[in-house]
Amino acid sequence: MPDRPRGEHPSTFVLTDPTEPDPAFDRIARVVQRQLGVPVALVSIVEQDRQAFPGLAGLGGWAGEARQTPLSHSFCQHVVRRRGPLLVRDARRDPLVSANAAVDDLGVAAYLGIPITGPGDVVLGSLCAIDTVPRDWSEAEVVAMEDLAAMCSVELSSRGPAPTTPPRTVRRRDHQQLRAMVDSLPAMVGYWDRDLRNVVANQAYVGWFGRTPAEIAGSHIRDLLGEEMFRLHEPHMRGALAGERQDFSRKVAEPGGRQRHLQATYVPDRDVAGEVVGFFVHVFDVSELTEALHFQDAVLAASPDLIYVIDLASGKITWVSGSLAENLGYAHDPVQQGSAQDYAAYLHPDDLDAIAEANAAARALADGETIRLRLRARHADGSYRWLLRRTTPFERDADGQVSKVLGVTRDVHESVELTERLEAAAVHDDLTGLPNRRLLTDRLVLALSRQAHSGRAVPVLYCDLDGFKRVNDTGGHRAGDSVLRTTARRIRSLLRPEDTVARVGGDEFVVVLEPTLRDPATPTGTDTDLIAAQEVAARIGRLVAEPVEADHREHFVTVSVGIALAQAGENPEQVLRNADAAMYQAKAHGKARTEVFDRALRDDALDRAHVESVLRSALRVTAALATPHAADIPASAEPTFWVEYQPVYDLDTHTLAGAEALARLMDGSGRIIPPDQFIPVAEETGLIGRLGRRVLDTACRDLASWHAALPARSDLRIAVNVSARQAAHEDLLSDVESALARHEVPPGCLTLELTESVLLEAGRSTMATLTSLRSRGVRISIDDFGTGYASLRYLAQLPVTGVKVDRSFIAGIPQDPMSVSIVRAVRGLARDLEIECVVEGIETALQLAAVPDGVLGQGYLLGRPMPAADLHELIAACAGRPGSRRAARPLSNR
Ligand code: C2E
Ligand code: CA
Ligand code: CA
Repeated sequence: MPDRPRGEHPSTFVLTDPTEPDPAFDRIARVVQRQLGVPVALVSIVEQDRQAFPGLAGLGGWAGEARQTPLSHSFCQHVVRRRGPLLVRDARRDPLVSANAAVDDLGVAAYLGIPITGPGDVVLGSLCAIDTVPRDWSEAEVVAMEDLAAMCSVELSSRGPAPTTPPRTVRRRDHQQLRAMVDSLPAMVGYWDRDLRNVVANQAYVGWFGRTPAEIAGSHIRDLLGEEMFRLHEPHMRGALAGERQDFSRKVAEPGGRQRHLQATYVPDRDVAGEVVGFFVHVFDVSELTEALHFQDAVLAASPDLIYVIDLASGKITWVSGSLAENLGYAHDPVQQGSAQDYAAYLHPDDLDAIAEANAAARALADGETIRLRLRARHADGSYRWLLRRTTPFERDADGQVSKVLGVTRDVHESVELTERLEAAAVHDDLTGLPNRRLLTDRLVLALSRQAHSGRAVPVLYCDLDGFKRVNDTGGHRAGDSVLRTTARRIRSLLRPEDTVARVGGDEFVVVLEPTLRDPATPTGTDTDLIAAQEVAARIGRLVAEPVEADHREHFVTVSVGIALAQAGENPEQVLRNADAAMYQAKAHGKARTEVFDRALRDDALDRAHVESVLRSALRVTAALATPHAADIPASAEPTFWVEYQPVYDLDTHTLAGAEALARLMDGSGRIIPPDQFIPVAEETGLIGRLGRRVLDTACRDLASWHAALPARSDLRIAVNVSARQAAHEDLLSDVESALARHEVPPGCLTLELTESVLLEAGRSTMATLTSLRSRGVRISIDDFGTGYASLRYLAQLPVTGVKVDRSFIAGIPQDPMSVSIVRAVRGLARDLEIECVVEGIETALQLAAVPDGVLGQGYLLGRPMPAADLHELIAACAGRPGSRRAARPLSNR
């Protein structure tokens, strides 16, 4: 053994010569030998280039009873380096020691070493058990060794003073205490040395693998992880040993099969020289947290709300849950993290101040408090949508001020719109409590619709105070308000509960009188309604003229009243304008009086009654009488009803295709009443049923006679108009069937014309009727197409066979180039849908020239509506000789 300077080694302070047998350590070595049943046990002090054995128990002069070996033969150096236990189960297969000289030279096959410390808790060496055959080390054996090692430590510490400058070593506190502490940690913790041997591991850590800390102590990490997981984690181990902290997460199936999310951290451990000597392992089971995050993501994704965090200082969004894009129709998300600029650009400029204010106010919010703000964001279509934003504190700065807020924004567009409509509909005047103009209009509409079937007029009184300005000027606004309130009360007091009085302007009131129910004996008519209205107006005039006391003074006003008699179907605005005009007349005629709106109104009202009575008696007259020849018309002294026919031409072949039947009415004095006037009256009074049957029957009869007279033209068709009320009536089907049957007209020769709106509003039963008609071969055409908003594509889903482009489009030709395009478009669409297209209202040659190919044409240019006999002649004239378009024209001169 060469002499060596041992002055630097801490053991020098403790043992003068550690190779000298020490009875205390020898005894401990023997205890180990016996207790663990091993051939050799040593108390080893590890110095710079050798290990010395102050305690030794060996069989058969192990190592020649030498009390030292060079470090090349030392397993114990690893224990010192790691400052923790080392367990070797099979030295030849353990990469840490397989190359150690002791394996071959001394036959060391298994090894268990526990660190022992000297004064100042400096690790000086180890207590070790050695076997010459591979073996396992039980937990009990490890614990026993730890106890014995502790005894060695106590012994060593008692031998000498603590070194003044201890080298870097672990201070070994009470091992049991440390173990208990580490084991109590909920997280998995461990420490592996640079040879990947376990130094420390808590229960939670190794328990995961179904192992105990003692079992793992000193063993290679591969033993714990298993080959597969070891390979997976090895790069991180290498990274940690290269000095780089490792953070990674893994989804791992628990031995039970449950999927767990583990978050692992490897932290390099360095000695004083900065060299990495091992790494700490912390593993957290974050499964619950991960699941919670998944849940949160799902909730946020499913939520229609947009949730975000705003940094109040910068106004920037620092986190956002989802995409506003969906709500606002953008392909790209306008609200991106941290893009305060962009975000503002999507808000309504008028809202920016309010938003800034709300953000400023949010700084002082207490926890749990929220600020609600309604704002508008621009939709991709350019419109603004109402959003409701609620903000609540999210983060505070050092002095407790809110620094970030959580915002939850919800699309409330529909409800805001609704609220606004409701607000707009707030229907009462604050000062007088009377209905305002809006409610008045509603009531007027209602009153008019209630009278729709009685033909009664609704009296409307427009009342405007005279001298009100003077009250305001002399008595001030309080007096003015008081006069208005009193006037309101007085007018109200004169009316029945069902009547309405509304305040519609500063000093303007409108009264709507419900027509009185009278017994049938009293004469009905507009005159009685007017007289009643005038009586009410007079009483209002008298009562309003009474003095009003306000602030101990008497004020005087009078009232000018204009009366209008509103008729069903009239526009309420127009009615109010009429009454207003009458009121102005009252003012003009000296105030404090009443005027009635223009007699024409009364005439018109009388007209309706007239039309009704003409219609009733005309429909009573026999059908034979009701088809006069053109020449006979003026001669009739009776109210007369008949049917005329307007020819319809195929513009491509220039042949007559058929005719449209149009109802005609004349009163006893020979005045023609146009269908636009009598059809609505017929509808209102229910006479339409009888009228419709008459037209249908007449049209079928006439068509049958034309077919009979000109068998070559048995393809001629007849079109009959069907009004809304007719279409809705269940009799339509049987009426059509019986008319067809009676006159033996093939169903395909009859076209029913229904307007777009009738088809759109058709209920289930109307639809069913139309469908059965269609299935019987009757043709159905959409009349006046283009006047509503329906699309042809939609209408074509209904059982229709044709479309008639409204007159107004042809009327636009040639001034309006759009008209031609529209007609062409409808024609094209009709062709796609394989339905017929008729262009009606052709009045000029220019219009005819502009009509596209492939349509039927109708209009004054081609032929005016004419009596049946005239059409018969026309058919006879055209039959068999198709003309040119030109040839069609002279017909219009008839
Ligand atoms: P409509 O069904 O659109 O009938 C076409 C109307 O246009 C007819 O008016 C016809 O005389 C007129 N007309 C024809 N060619 C031209 C033209 O080139 N220029 C102009 N400006 N007008 C032309 P009429 O006969 O006054 O009928 C008006 C409406 O009364 C009809 O419109 C139809 O809706 C309704 N109507 C007529 N007869 C009946 C009927 O028997 N039953 C029902 N329910 N409604 C009918
Ligand atoms: Ca028509
Ligand atoms: Ca029409």
